Amino acid sequence: WKHAPAHFRALLELSRSHGEQVFLAYEDEHITFEDHFRRAATLARRLVDEYGVRKGDRVGVAMRNYPEWVISLSAALAAGAVAVPLNAWWTEAELGYGVSDSGAKVLIADGERAARLASTGVPLIVARGEVPDGARAFDEVMGEIAADVRLPDVELRPEDPATIFYTSGTTGSPKGALGSHRNLGQSPMTVSYGFVRAMALAGKDAAAGAGVRRVTLLTVPLFHVTGCFSALTTSMFGGGGLVLMYKWDAGQALRLIERERVTGMIGVPTNAWQLMSHPDFGKHDLSSLSSLGYGGAPAPPKLLERITRNLPNRAPSNGYGMTETTALAIGNGGADYHARPDSIGRPVPVVDVRVVDPAGAELPAGEVGELCLRGPNVIMGYWNKPEATAQTFVDGWLHTGDLARLDDDGFVYIVDRAKDMVIRGGENVYCAEVEAALFDHPAVDDAAVIGVPHEELGEEVGAVIRLVPGASLATEDLTSFLGDRIAKFKIPVHFWFREDELPRNPGGKILKTHLRREILGA
Ligand code: ATP
Ligand code: MG
Repeated sequence: WKHAPAHFRALLELSRSHGEQVFLAYEDEHITFEDHFRRAATLARRLVDEYGVRKGDRVGVAMRNYPEWVISLSAALAAGAVAVPLNAWWTEAELGYGVSDSGAKVLIADGERAARLASTGVPLIVARGEVPDGARAFDEVMGEIAADVRLPDVELRPEDPATIFYTSGTTGSPKGALGSHRNLGQSPMTVSYGFVRAMALAGKDAAAGAGVRRVTLLTVPLFHVTGCFSALTTSMFGGGGLVLMYKWDAGQALRLIERERVTGMIGVPTNAWQLMSHPDFGKHDLSSLSSLGYGGAPAPPKLLERITRNLPNRAPSNGYGMTETTALAIGNGGADYHARPDSIGRPVPVVDVRVVDPAGAELPAGEVGELCLRGPNVIMGYWNKPEATAQTFVDGWLHTGDLARLDDDGFVYIVDRAKDMVIRGGENVYCAEVEAALFDHPAVDDAAVIGVPHEELGEEVGAVIRLVPGASLATEDLTSFLGDRIAKFKIPVHFWFREDELPRNPGGKILKTHLRREILGA
């Protein structure tokens, strides 16, 4: 190239140079970079020639983590379309919303999603599973894949929109985050930086530099940014392998790490936790594994302790990111992480952070306020939501909705989501802090803190707790345990113990709105 264009086609073409290396592994299927390029280019041509897809049109992708998800995303982007990954967990009504909100011109789905999408009337291409009437099978659309297939002709610029990822819907209904090709092109650099820093600080040779090919086990869905922008684009960029799972399953993850010689796992904190809790942990050869990256939800300091004990000499890292920041924005790893296990670390170099008061004035280190971010990974805005866009993106700064503080060295501490915080008689209680204290108790396997309406105080603190199987715990013992860790007014006064898992969305976040409804009927 005369210059290095920051758009997906450049990344796709670059990835082709990794040739016969395995790019995607799914069960017994292994797809090389060359193979992926040819399939993506072929499908891109079909989208243009047979479905009339033009630059800026939306193409929806609704699948589990199949290789076809990756091929479809690549094809849509290479054709100049805006790729719209739809949440595979969504019901028919929710998928219908995603399709009409994005105005998708074509949908590419797996059989299970196709059944839920047929009623939209949008042309449908179906990989794996039953093909509803009027839809076409993926392989039939692909037809013959020529060795010399070329990408369709479209001119893309870094400023052009590339993706609409829906936010996780933890605090309200999911919003479409419109990301540009520049945002996408930035993601492997941001993530590689975070990775190399975490490895270096852990005293390990950065895998790429040491000549070890990275093989990443992806334990979260591709339709959220962690999957797509922390794992997929980085693998494409660096020639690393990506091991896909239909859905998260700790036992299968252990088998896959051994079989595929996985070097790094990327997912949410609960994945790492459950991997180590699985009865087969210890029965598999995990010697290839050198890093564990997680983020997207609070990682209790106890997780780091447990990794250090159970998986010594690995490089764990905690990454903070949002759909609105195209995945990673702030990360903690290695010696930094051990020194400050409750911090999400420092921003990657291209990201600026500040903490502001409700009026938008910057606060000094130590004070809690809203975390704001700025950088080339921050998206263009919300799709179809001018008001939310205007509220969230102010003077070039993204308002995250997360409460945080900085320390004197620039480390960031998330104290809570602004919407989660419990206000008890005028005192702020940060759920995340109380949850971390609960996690410290050896009998606690999982915990969520919620506000419980109270006539006088406004809200009281309540905790939903799942105990380690077989453990028992008296409320008074737990309360006195907490008394050594947090101030009295923060100690929960309502406890609900449950045996089943806490409800989480695919991003690993506890659905507190569900819990509140379930428990309080509100
Ligand atoms: P919605 O915006 O629809 O309510 P969401 O905010 O959960 O959903 P995402 O964009 O997937 O959607 O998640 C971003 C949020 O996840 C952040 O704002 C933050 O609250 C949380 N988060 C991400 N990474 C971390 C982390 N490492 N530690 C603590 N919280 C994190
Ligand atoms: Mg959000």
